[in-house]
Amino acid sequence: MKKQHEKIKVKNTIVEIDGDEMTRVMWKMVKDKLLLPYLDMKPEYYDLGLKKRDETNDQITIEAANAIKKHGVGVKCATITPNKDRIKEYNLKKEWPSPNGTIRAILDGTVFRSPILTKNIMPGVRNWKKPIQIGRHAYGDVYKNQEIRVPGPGKGELMFTPSDGGQPIKLTIQDFKGPGIIQGIHNTDKSIGSFAKACFTYALDQKVDLWFATKDTISKTYDARFRQIFQEEFENNWKKKYEDAGIEYFFTLIDDAVARIMKSEGGMLWACKNYDGDVMSDMLGSAYGSLAMMTSVLVSPEGFFEYEAAHGTVQKHYYKYLKGEKTSSNPMALIFAWTGALKKRGELDNTPDVVEFAKKLEEASIETVEGGIMTGDLMKVATPNPKNKQVYTEEFIDAIADRLKKKL
Ligand code: NAP
Ligand code: MG
Repeated sequence: MKKQHEKIKVKNTIVEIDGDEMTRVMWKMVKDKLLLPYLDMKPEYYDLGLKKRDETNDQITIEAANAIKKHGVGVKCATITPNKDRIKEYNLKKEWPSPNGTIRAILDGTVFRSPILTKNIMPGVRNWKKPIQIGRHAYGDVYKNQEIRVPGPGKGELMFTPSDGGQPIKLTIQDFKGPGIIQGIHNTDKSIGSFAKACFTYALDQKVDLWFATKDTISKTYDARFRQIFQEEFENNWKKKYEDAGIEYFFTLIDDAVARIMKSEGGMLWACKNYDGDVMSDMLGSAYGSLAMMTSVLVSPEGFFEYEAAHGTVQKHYYKYLKGEKTSSNPMALIFAWTGALKKRGELDNTPDVVEFAKKLEEASIETVEGGIMTGDLMKVATPNPKNKQVYTEEFIDAIADRLKKKL
């Protein structure tokens, strides 16, 4: 038994990336009430609040990403991606790019999302008992395309010209008799390969089966290449490890995958091509109840991890907060971003007491919701119960702190 005042030591550095608006407000509460009283840790702090990014010409974002490369584990608050309105609101020098995009490009990572499940929030699909996690390929396809609005009759062609002066390859897409549309998309072996590596790494880390699906019966070159790269990666680097861990790599057609997912009890990592991942992660997010119950982790092929909430800065709540109103914003995904980072840190450092603390904090959070104390977003979707009570953010965090104290 540890004495009350003895703090748990986090041996190596966690890179802490602060952010904006309501999530910045909640971030501080989570640290002050749930982490710092119990943990002896010295995170390396990067302020990615929009003001600081503007002051440093966004260098701070690059530094934060490099710090994750150095230390291996980071945790990030939500940040504003500026648009025209934000330029005015924050008097910015320019429209800085999305910090998540910058960090993802530096770490060459894949984003995995997982829902936080509680007994009193039933998923939209009754038979889903375990979390379905999604890994979305974040490069190419329709997100980096060229399109032509075909004005009238003519020939649409697909052409590749080799840099070494070799013969161009040319295919007819369509002989148009009238107006229409054409689209050109691409991907690279390198990007698909990193995506595959990240998915195999993450599923093994989580000890869950990996599912992947394409439409290679129709797209016999493009989608087929995705399937081949995954298969080769599996056979060359993972087969034995997966057997030892008692997990599977399973490939099927995308429509079959969707049908099977709906009938499954969950518990797999679903690797999705870029568009499939865009669509399916929003479907899962809403089926599991609330955006604030979805966590997200960026995993690089070299094994760096950055944990965050899947939601944004909850701007509307922040404007209320600025007017002095209390809000019932939900900090669950932020808490789980921290516990994810702490568990990973503890695992890498071989400090089981840090992992244990993170698990207890997760239990305390889930039990608080299951005990009926919850924020407004959850009240709308929880199984009705006279015990259910909507509380403000700070009260919610205090209730978690009470439970946590009893567990330690
Ligand atoms: P958002 O912050 O995710 O919020 C959208 C709506 O979802 C909120 O208005 C709220 O609904 C609900 N919601 C989200 N998180 C919640 C929470 N923790 N507790 C309770 N309700 C929650 O998205 P947004 O308003 O479109 O974007 C705001 C800013 O976030 C933008 O500047 C955007 O650039 C940024 N963003 C950042 C990230 C990131 O850093 N990872 C991701 C997405 C967006 P109600 O208003 O109905 O209560
Ligand atoms: Mg989307």
